[in-house]
Amino acid sequence: MRDIGAVRLYRPSDEAQALRVLSSAGAHPVIVAGATDLCAQFNEGLQVSDLVSLSRVDGYRDIRATDGGVTIGAGCTHALGAHDPVLAALCPDLQIAWRSVAAGILRVRAWATIGGNLMARKPRYEMSILLTALAASLRFCTTTGPSCIAAEDLWSGPAPGQGFLWQVEVPTRQLVALRYDRSLRPLMTLATSCRLVADGVRARAVIATQELQPQVLDLDLVESCAAYVRDARDHAIEAFSALPTDFSDGQSSNDYLRRVGAVLLRRHLESLAHV
Ligand SMILES: Cc1cc2nc3c(=O)[nH]c(=O)nc-3n(C[C@H](O)[C@H](O)[C@H](O)COP(=O)(O)OP(=O)(O)OC[C@H]3O[C@@H](n4cnc5c(N)ncnc54)[C@H](O)[C@@H]3O)c2cc1C
Repeated sequence: MRDIGAVRLYRPSDEAQALRVLSSAGAHPVIVAGATDLCAQFNEGLQVSDLVSLSRVDGYRDIRATDGGVTIGAGCTHALGAHDPVLAALCPDLQIAWRSVAAGILRVRAWATIGGNLMARKPRYEMSILLTALAASLRFCTTTGPSCIAAEDLWSGPAPGQGFLWQVEVPTRQLVALRYDRSLRPLMTLATSCRLVADGVRARAVIATQELQPQVLDLDLVESCAAYVRDARDHAIEAFSALPTDFSDGQSSNDYLRRVGAVLLRRHLESLAHV
């Protein structure tokens, strides 16, 4: 492990102070959460003079019910999220999926946060695919004011140093189900959500690989979940026919991802028979 030398650690106690610290501390202040990914970044050569921890900011770890869903503080760890009673009541499917992240690695689950998982901006980290399937929003505090982006736009969101991720907002009121399959990880993962809309229900499938950012495949609107269950295979093949032909990486061809993705999606759609 590399010695990172002397660093200044800032622990602001509210959001405004955090922003002031970020815009004044050192040349390139870096936010530290659980440091499980930062340690890897240090080993890869990241130079840091100033670290900013948000752990003292009120609400940073909280999970709260809202009018239309649930908000998850960026500082919520995998361990906290996996057993939180509010999340259990409002989005149990997300909680089930979250339990599989770094399963069995207690050190990581106890320290690693949802914010760090997202802001490391690594496609192989799983919260981005889950939150993209759920049409979640990411709320940032930035030096130019609050900003909110769709989870699928994480990759083009505010640059590090411009502010920090404060909360994840998950709309759950119209959510029927979320399904997640990581059995083929690291080759690929698939998350599928199903949501009530004005004239029926609509499913969204999201595929990601170790290297490739989550790709959204919105399915046709149908009158009820039963329609997806009945014609699951056709819907799955149709959805994956829209997968961009350049969606492939060094491990899996586009043809493989289409075929295996359609199989997993078919299973997800068939499982809607039980909702
Ligand atoms: C052994 C091991 C196994 C793992 N297995 C899995 C797995 O199965 N699935 C999976 O998805 N992940 C896995 N991970 C990754 C792990 O989930 C991430 O390392 C973790 O979520 C990062 O969170 P952290 O709080 O430690 O972030 P940190 O390491 O503290 O930060 C990561 C990055 O995010 C930035 N950051 C952190 N918080 C904020 C914020 N609020 N606003 C802006 N920027 C911020 C930091 O500046 C840094 O660049 C594993 C990691 C390890 C070490």
